[in-house]
Amino acid sequence: MLTTALVPAPLRLVGHPRERAIRSAITEAMAEAASCFVCRQRVSRPGAFLCAWGEAAAGIAVAQCCRECWRDASDDLVEANAARVLQGAVPGGRFLD
Ligand SMILES: [Zn+2]
Repeated sequence: MLTTALVPAPLRLVGHPRERAIRSAITEAMAEAASCFVCRQRVSRPGAFLCAWGEAAAGIAVAQCCRECWRDASDDLVEANAARVLQGAVPGGRFLD
C-alpha cells in the first residue's frame, strides 16, 4: 500500500506523522533539476510536492509541481497527473482516495 500527500510550498507539515522524513525528501528533491508533473516543464519555483511512500520502503518519492500549474491548473488536472506519476511508481497500483 502506498500513502501519498500533496504538500504545498512553502511547506506546512507541522504535526504530520512523517514530517521529518517528508521534509528531508523534499529538500533532496529540490536540490536536483526536476520537471513539473503537470506541464512537464523544468521547475524553477516549486508550487507543491507530491510525496509517496510505501509501508515497507524507507524512502519517500517526491514529484514536483511548478508554481504556475499549482496556481492555475484545475484540481482535476493536478490529480489526474498525480495519479499518472504514481502509477509509474507503482505499476497497477490503485488509489484509495
Ligand atoms: Zn507545471
